[in-house]
Amino acid sequence: MALANRVMGIKPSPTLAVDARAKAMKASGIDVVGFGAGEPDFDTPDNIKEAAIKAIRDGYTKYLPVPGTDELKDAIIAKHKADNGITYDRAEIIVSTGAKHSLYNIAQALYGAGDEVIIPAPYWVSYPDQVLLNDATPVIVQTREENNFVLTADDLEKAVTPKTKAFILNSPSNPTGLGYDRSALEAIAKVAVKHGIYVISDEIYEKIVYDGFRHVSIASLGDDIKALTLTVNGLSKSHAMTGWRLGWAAGPKDVIGAMSKIQSQSTSNTCSITMKAAVEALKGPQEFIGVMVAEFDKRRKYIVERLNAMPGVTCPMPVGAFYAFPRVKDLYGKSFNGKPINNSSDLAAYLLEEAKVAVVSGDAFGADDYIRLSYATSMANIEKGLDRIAAAFGALS
Ligand code: PMP
Ligand code: GLU
Repeated sequence: MALANRVMGIKPSPTLAVDARAKAMKASGIDVVGFGAGEPDFDTPDNIKEAAIKAIRDGYTKYLPVPGTDELKDAIIAKHKADNGITYDRAEIIVSTGAKHSLYNIAQALYGAGDEVIIPAPYWVSYPDQVLLNDATPVIVQTREENNFVLTADDLEKAVTPKTKAFILNSPSNPTGLGYDRSALEAIAKVAVKHGIYVISDEIYEKIVYDGFRHVSIASLGDDIKALTLTVNGLSKSHAMTGWRLGWAAGPKDVIGAMSKIQSQSTSNTCSITMKAAVEALKGPQEFIGVMVAEFDKRRKYIVERLNAMPGVTCPMPVGAFYAFPRVKDLYGKSFNGKPINNSSDLAAYLLEEAKVAVVSGDAFGADDYIRLSYATSMANIEKGLDRIAAAFGALS
């Protein structure tokens, strides 16, 4: 029996695939160092777990309103006001089963055949495939490392056509770890407003920032741009809650209403217990984030310094998220035991097979000159993994 055409055009999430492969190798007794997983290696804070346990004990285990409870929406509204200076009301918020699901609901509500969606590369792996799953066309626009991988107003202007429906913004960025400052955002907001295109602003790494980088939400820059922006966020990264599956989108009522209609026919509300935990995550003590970020910060400096010390490798210093994104193109053309390394997937496969180190190849992010290493893993693992990488790169001739 043939599968639907839409399945043929997409691939499984490469980040999840690398992580699964590394975990499977570990389970079979192989000592793999995993730099693949884009998830905090910290446990969810106890106060959040306790809120979930209480929800279960209280019998908070039934269907709830599809777009989320008022209690949680109010906590999300308060968060956006306090952190981002944006005022939303309840009809402008929808809670879904992870930020990935929020992004997917947006894609379902907004994109269709004939639409183009602009995606700056390097991009997070799911953006193009979510566009394809909804019969629209991803328009990939290359950004430049010397420009901090930021999409400029000029880049955006050149990519816009009468078919452009939206563009996807991700700051701080997965995979680059770099971000947009206020003036870069102001410049692209102007172009979006001029052409009346939606901005999908994925702000999931907002809280994981370094060196005084200040996250700015594009929707906070004025009423015109707010009316076109879907702000996506969640707790997976900030509160180490990847497995709980909760994210949200905030934006224009008509789009949020459409997403809620779609969600009512697909997943319904996200988990009731997770919603109670999310209220505690948003309203309870926030010290955990600072502790986690301080630890990421130490690892960030260490990993970037070590990568830059490797011949043929250069790595920009991230200002956010927990990824190092070294340029490894100068190693292409070399070989190991006569086997050539010609691109990022050859290099990632070589590291996994020969050095037992899992990284994600840059081509998964539309950037074949690079590989991605997540430093959401212990310092001991990072040291061991980098020793192995240095030896493996040194063994290429
Ligand atoms: N956006 C980006 C840029 C991410 O890295 C992730 C990580 N999975 C997500 C969205 C999705 O997060 P969630 O776990 O909340 O679905
Ligand atoms: N966002 C994380 C990553 O990029 C988790 C994996 C995924 O959801 O694709 O590694």
